[in-house]
Amino acid sequence: MPKDKILVIGANGQLGSALTRTLRQNHGQDNVIASDIHLPIDGNNYLPFEILDASDGAKLVYIIERHRITHVYHSAAMLSAKGEINPLQTWNLNMTGLFNVLEAARSHKLKKIFFPSSIAVFGSNTPRILTPQDTIRTPETVFGMSKVAGENWCSYYHNRYGTDVRGLRFPGIISYKGKTDGSITDFATELLHSAVQHKPYECFLRSNTRLPMIFIDDAIRAIIELMNAPAEKISIRSSYNLASMSFTSIELENEIKKHIPTFKRMAVKTDLVQQIADSWPESVDDTQARKDWGWLPQYDLASTVETMIEGLRKMYPPIKDELKVID
Ligand code: NAD
Repeated sequence: MPKDKILVIGANGQLGSALTRTLRQNHGQDNVIASDIHLPIDGNNYLPFEILDASDGAKLVYIIERHRITHVYHSAAMLSAKGEINPLQTWNLNMTGLFNVLEAARSHKLKKIFFPSSIAVFGSNTPRILTPQDTIRTPETVFGMSKVAGENWCSYYHNRYGTDVRGLRFPGIISYKGKTDGSITDFATELLHSAVQHKPYECFLRSNTRLPMIFIDDAIRAIIELMNAPAEKISIRSSYNLASMSFTSIELENEIKKHIPTFKRMAVKTDLVQQIADSWPESVDDTQARKDWGWLPQYDLASTVETMIEGLRKMYPPIKDELKVID
């Protein structure tokens, strides 16, 4: 049987880089082609690599034919915070990129497509606690609007053309190896970076704003498990709700203080960011993901903070004062 050949689009990003590493461990380095609009920072370690602007459909088809691609993980997008600065550009990239992938999947009979959606598909008229899988999706950001439309297009391609497309509504992703290019939930990753460097962090969310989050290792495992599940188990073709943990910035600060007692979080008022966070769920109900393909998160707040601090301490060389604190 011919081997699966995988293309990751947006492979330099927070999710794409971790996903590419795992897919290469599972399928072999040469069978996973990384692509992004920019060259990767770690150069040759990242080969095979193709420069690809996701909105360039012709180049996407060229890469698919050149490498005999069978699976596409479409991770390129403009995210929630940055999206509000460039609404039309965000809509264009998020929609055109997905259309190009879905059309290539149809015309080249690709085996499987992965689409990362977001809890940003929900808005302030959605139930905020244990948000159901099927509920009102009227988001207040252009990022959320593009994900709702994207989910519907994924269902459409599945129903109309039989495209095997699978998606997850990610909560905010926490990772020490990468940071997004502008998501509202970046505060958690940034707070941990500041704590390890013994810098105070100016937090732009109220201390009691609770948001759903997930550690990167769980996020990657969810993608792999979803993509490996037999097609007949996949009852949702838009995107599955995916839950892990939910916390507020004060709860995160208190957990960090168990490791770095001197850490300080400072409140800064930002109306737009707060307004968007207030429109998102506090927690989501992921019963369907658990039932269909056995989803079960492994990381909670305590183990996430511990793993993040361990990883970040390797990135930031200790300074004199810090040595005192660690001891
Ligand atoms: P990121 O900002 O870290 O990465 C996005 C990547 O896309 C970057 O490497 C960027 O260079 C690339 N890119 C930008 N424009 C491009 C273009 N025109 N063509 C090709 N590549 C382009 O974001 P991420 O966290 O890796 O997000 C990946 C996916 O997961 C996105 O679809 C995002 O909506 C979704 N998601 C992420 C989060 C999160 O908290 N990180 C939460 C929910 C959903």
